[in-house]
Amino acid sequence: MNVGVIGGGIAGLSAAYELSRRGHKVALFEKEPQLGGQAATFEIAGERVERFYHHIFTSDSDIIQLIHELGLGERLVWLDSRVGFLYRGRIYDFVTPRDLLRFRPVSPVDRVRLGLVSLYLRRYKDWPRLEGKTAQGWITKYAGRRNYETVWGPLLRNKFGASCGEVGMVWLWGKIHLRFSSRSRGRERLGYLMGSFGLLVDALAQRIADLGGKIYTSSPVSQIVVQGEKVVGLQVGGEFHPFDAVIATVPSPAFLHMVPQLSGEYAAKLKGTRYQAAACLVLSLKAPLSPIYWLNISDATIPFVAIIEHTNFVDPSNYGGRHILYISNYLSPHDPRYQLDSDQLLEEYLPHLQKVNPNFEPGWIEQCHLFREEAGQPIIAKNYSSQIAEHRTPISNLYLANTTQIYPEDRGMNYSVRLGLKVSEILDGG
Ligand SMILES: Cc1cc2nc3c(=O)[nH]c(=O)nc-3n(C[C@H](O)[C@H](O)[C@H](O)COP(=O)(O)OP(=O)(O)OC[C@H]3O[C@@H](n4cnc5c(N)ncnc54)[C@H](O)[C@@H]3O)c2cc1C
Repeated sequence: MNVGVIGGGIAGLSAAYELSRRGHKVALFEKEPQLGGQAATFEIAGERVERFYHHIFTSDSDIIQLIHELGLGERLVWLDSRVGFLYRGRIYDFVTPRDLLRFRPVSPVDRVRLGLVSLYLRRYKDWPRLEGKTAQGWITKYAGRRNYETVWGPLLRNKFGASCGEVGMVWLWGKIHLRFSSRSRGRERLGYLMGSFGLLVDALAQRIADLGGKIYTSSPVSQIVVQGEKVVGLQVGGEFHPFDAVIATVPSPAFLHMVPQLSGEYAAKLKGTRYQAAACLVLSLKAPLSPIYWLNISDATIPFVAIIEHTNFVDPSNYGGRHILYISNYLSPHDPRYQLDSDQLLEEYLPHLQKVNPNFEPGWIEQCHLFREEAGQPIIAKNYSSQIAEHRTPISNLYLANTTQIYPEDRGMNYSVRLGLKVSEILDGG
């Protein structure tokens, strides 16, 4: 079959590779000048690094298998990660059961409840039973109000903003269940591809080309062309490209825009999808800000939600001794902060960096970059399974594979690899 793939992120590349391997003739269109989507990279000191912080978990079996299959296994390293929690001006370690028992912001009884609930969720497998519950309701009931207000509430608010009360318990279960699977004997190990996950993107693109597939960057698809309830091709830059089948891996609003013929329950499900936008300010510093890799911020006076200091995970010597950190925010795309440029955002954030390290000085900053993604995180409410659109759309030979269809796990590169494999199998009659 002659297949058109829309989107050159991990899902689009995974689908294009799998279809090429299955003997289909594939053409992939990416609107940006570079491939990778949310996992795209840029350079600091001549070294590639992700625009948004990225690591993988030991449970991310599909991406791990793909990395090995593409001959990148030697680049995959498993490194210790240090997670912290900033609360009322103090940083608490936040990985091991012992860390939880020492977490003074809540009473000893609440600390024990926090530990027991975390342990319970780590072992719990029957997630469909949690479908009708919100994270707020479930955690408040079982871990207590104080634990919700101090720990889980701020973490949910950090990611989902004003929608945090709607988030389904299954989302939180997935986060805890998977994250804990990367922890053992009091340590958390996370995976990274030395040289960046851009190597995976490059290797996928190379394999697709080797198998005869075509990849077009800077090529936004404006329309999915449908005739008589059947997809017939794509409109790209004023040119028509005929296809027997099309796979779209773009966010739901972009997909709806490309194929306005979609109606009924399927279109309603897509219209119901909502996202939080991600804005990441990436700083290259002369000195480390803190010893923590992943610092959760539980302080309403600080205008960002986490600091991910990449070089507390991957050694700074890989980046000419520079210290790279991401100041992360998840916002509504309508939030005025989402419209700020990098200088404006840095000005807003600067005074707060001293709350993490009182010795920090603006003179430490060598470079500052801002990256934004409107469809950063789908908002996963309770009973989400009934709101997910199927991969096979009502239009014949048109398929959708995007991050809103990842469930019960949270979106991530591993699941986009899996989406690509799954949608290719469905297209092939599976
Ligand atoms: C801040 C942040 C941190 C993250 N951290 C991690 C992490 O640590 N580990 C992890 O595994 N995952 C992480 N992720 C998630 C991960 O990057 C994504 O889940 C994954 O890369 C999504 O891939 P995708 O191909 O499904 O979607 P996308 O990457 O969104 O790809 C969609 C592609 O479609 C293209 N497109 C859109 N419209 C058009 C059009 N009209 N024509 C052609 N192309 C179009 C886009 O440009 C894009 O390249 C993170 C994401 C963010 C935002």
